[in-house]
Amino acid sequence: MPADLHVWSVPLRTRFRGLTVRDGVLVQGDAGWAEFSPFWDYDEQESLAWWRAAREAADEGWPAPVRDRIPVNVTVPAVDAATAHAIVLASGGCRTAKVKVAEPGQSLADEIARLEAVRDALGPSGAIRIDANAAWDVDTAVARLHALDRAAGGLEYAEQPVPSVEDLAELRRRTHVPIAADESIRRAQDPWAVARAHAADVVVLKVQPLGGVRACLELAETLGLPVVVSSALESSVGLAAGIALAAALPELPYACGLATAQLLAADLVAEPLLPQDGAIAVRRPAPDPTVLARAAAAPDLADRWRRRVAAVQAQA
Ligand SMILES: [Mg+2]
Repeated sequence: MPADLHVWSVPLRTRFRGLTVRDGVLVQGDAGWAEFSPFWDYDEQESLAWWRAAREAADEGWPAPVRDRIPVNVTVPAVDAATAHAIVLASGGCRTAKVKVAEPGQSLADEIARLEAVRDALGPSGAIRIDANAAWDVDTAVARLHALDRAAGGLEYAEQPVPSVEDLAELRRRTHVPIAADESIRRAQDPWAVARAHAADVVVLKVQPLGGVRACLELAETLGLPVVVSSALESSVGLAAGIALAAALPELPYACGLATAQLLAADLVAEPLLPQDGAIAVRRPAPDPTVLARAAAAPDLADRWRRRVAAVQAQA
């Protein structure tokens, strides 16, 4: 166990995934800095994969890149239309937008207005994908995808509209909108079930929940489906692992969901991993001591993280 655990906490610019704050731990090893930041709804057992990803980053580093720029999407939270429009215009030239839908308390009209605003900001050549975070049943998803595909002027794909692999497979037979699997890979006992059931056209891979860059490369190879690398809303220290995966994949047909440093009100490095002209340059920034100190968590939160790290280490 590294002596130095840097526990950090930063506010989000907009409520996202039900969160207003993102927190985690940085550790330093022979190969560089690593982030361990499972969301609090991941239990000790699930957090083990996140810990393996951090150990890989700290102790081994990552495979060599085959490209030096990663095209990325701007992520549009479940905000009003005017805000959505402004987020796309301020995205650093992203040509793909991922729009959150199925937010509790919002209506179909809210989602249509958001998608129309995003299309207006992107122009006709941009790509729009949506993410429903497994919120719908199959019948609802069929109807919503029909309406949202029209509002968006065509959807690139819909990410995890329904919860189970069986539902994804049924939905895929009932809609022309391509389907991407996220939760069905990330929180699954058996990530291969998606491929066996022909339940998705695209898979979303996230380095921390899937146990590291090498584990994701192996999974991508055996799944045999196009991969979109996405973040788990990490700081730029953690995002670098996603960038390394996207840089090492043999094929990268879609923009990746790695431009999420924009969602944090502060970062841990001097120059965050942000897009320019719609892509993030492949690099691995180290934390800046001054900004890391500014993001240091309060003592009670720091204690919670120390206990969490001790618990996964006891299991690892
Ligand atoms: Mg998702």
